[in-house]
Amino acid sequence: MVAVRENLMEIQADIEQAAEKAGRNKEDIHIIAVTKYVTIERAQEAVSAGVTNLGENRDEGFLAKYKELRDRACWHFIGSLQSRKVKDIIHHVDYIHSLDRYSLAKEINKRSQKTVPCFVQVNVSGEESKHGLAEEEVESFIKDLAALEHIRVVGLMTMAPHVDNPEDTRPLFKKMRLLRDHIQKQNFHHAPCDYLSMGMSNDYQVAVEEGATHIRIGTRLVGKEF
Ligand SMILES: *Cc1c(COP(=O)(O)O)cnc(C)c1O
Repeated sequence: MVAVRENLMEIQADIEQAAEKAGRNKEDIHIIAVTKYVTIERAQEAVSAGVTNLGENRDEGFLAKYKELRDRACWHFIGSLQSRKVKDIIHHVDYIHSLDRYSLAKEINKRSQKTVPCFVQVNVSGEESKHGLAEEEVESFIKDLAALEHIRVVGLMTMAPHVDNPEDTRPLFKKMRLLRDHIQKQNFHHAPCDYLSMGMSNDYQVAVEEGATHIRIGTRLVGKEF
């Protein structure tokens, strides 16, 4: 497998180019290495290569990597989260990217003693297989979250459908940015909503051009081992 360091340098160059094209600051774009397909050793290699954000989509994988790497990384939970699993991960996560229902928010709120930065997941493509709220549900959902003292909505997250031509995802990313801007403008105390978590291995350049602040990259950065 190609060294993580090499992949990272290429991805950083792509980001720089996309950011420049869009008139953005490259410092505003955070790479999250998604390690769900790889071993703990490969995750360690990523951290040694300078990756500071790690993401996992299942609690088992999350805890396995967390146990080894702990303070060496900032921890993102990016997959759909069952309420009964919240207590297992809540004291170790720095960000949850998959907040998609009030019952889950209530459980997070109950299990945490401190503020939990969350992204609200949006199903912007409307595909039935995708998790997340419909675009038109997002605002009232976020308003309801004001009642939960430990929930802070730092941004919106989406997973675009896999398409052959990443350009096809551009309208969805654009829609996400407009929705983020709309929420942000309302200055909700519990929901600054500054961030946009979108873009994966096949479409991160387009996502950055359209305003992504957090891109979640697995295959292209650390590879796929199992
Ligand atoms: C797996 C996964 C990714 C990364 O996917 P790649 O295509 O391998 O980059 C990003 N986000 C989520 C939510 C995932 O589950």
